[in-house]
Amino acid sequence: MVEKARPTFILDGMFGSLARWLRLLGYDTIFCNDWVDDDILLATGDRILLTRDKELITRAHRRGLKAFNPGSRPIAAMLRRLQEYLGITFVLNPSTSRCSLCNARLAHALPEEVKERVPPRSFHQHTLYWQCTNPDCRQVYWQGRHWQRIQATLNKI
Ligand SMILES: [Zn+2]
Repeated sequence: MVEKARPTFILDGMFGSLARWLRLLGYDTIFCNDWVDDDILLATGDRILLTRDKELITRAHRRGLKAFNPGSRPIAAMLRRLQEYLGITFVLNPSTSRCSLCNARLAHALPEEVKERVPPRSFHQHTLYWQCTNPDCRQVYWQGRHWQRIQATLNKI
């Protein structure tokens, strides 16, 4: 069976942490911090616009765009509403994750490549690393405590 194309998102300035989550969960996500509504609507295209702004949702729908209000925190509740709206299940898989900072894809990295950028204590505990493929970012990821917290939150949904 061919995998359904992953939805892509565009989030307004209220959803900074949700944007980081969606990227780590592997979804191409634009975060519009301090954008005016007209620019957000222009950039939406085939993306799903996530906003709490009712007027913006109405304007998006009038243009035939997809827009949804995932509600308020906690993050688990927002993700649960999104899952129901989209009929998908969020899975944390570092091979498909995107960089939480810049939305670029991640690639496997060898421990010696990232050693200088990982705290020594974490470096001794982990052997699997991923690195942002954006040359201006190069953020390093490993399955540490933060990763386990994300997984624990997903398990609650
Ligand atoms: Zn990055």
